[in-house]
Amino acid sequence: MQPPKSNVCVICGTRPAVTVDHVPPKGFFKGVVNAQLRTVPACWDCNNGASSDDEDVRFFISAQIGKQNPASKQLWENGAHKSILRKKTLREAFVANAREVAVVGADGSQTMRIAFHIPVFTYQRVLARTTRGLYFFHCGRVLPASIRVNAIMLTGTPNMETEEIRMLNFENIGNGACIYRYGILPDDPDSSLWIYEFHHAHWAMVTTGAASAAQTLLIQ
Ligand SMILES: [Zn+2]
Repeated sequence: MQPPKSNVCVICGTRPAVTVDHVPPKGFFKGVVNAQLRTVPACWDCNNGASSDDEDVRFFISAQIGKQNPASKQLWENGAHKSILRKKTLREAFVANAREVAVVGADGSQTMRIAFHIPVFTYQRVLARTTRGLYFFHCGRVLPASIRVNAIMLTGTPNMETEEIRMLNFENIGNGACIYRYGILPDDPDSSLWIYEFHHAHWAMVTTGAASAAQTLLIQ
């Protein structure tokens, strides 16, 4: 699938597009063969300035998923594990707020797990950049910089069988490494909803425009 063309960076909507940027970030597909990643026109700053954010978010997604399926095992072993060994700032951030918590199973048995915070602003930035890029990829229109993009991590598996979710467009990148569903309001194209599923085990919801404002009210 070829992306539409733009002389302006589709992420910031202002600077000239002199590079192509992967959306979602390339590092999220470590170990995936023939991933057929998506790229969009981007400026130098948006493309290169984001790699540290991308690496951090990949690590936290991978740590949250664990090694529960072959794809997430690949993500950890080929990417996230190396990041935390190599990157001191990431290691410190992780250790600073990780703690052991008791998890009680359905049978009443107790196991200890590591709980940690995902850095919200970094997570928001990476998901917002990905969404602006994919928005352009599908619409051929740059989402104006003034339009708010709001990302939240979903803590459980959302119900994908509702009528509203089934009406969304369905996309799959890298043999299921990233599945996303999206819908854009026809009479208000700045408003859109995106549901991401990374490695079948990590879910996020992103909204733009008026949909984003509505969601902010909802979660306050
Ligand atoms: Zn830019």
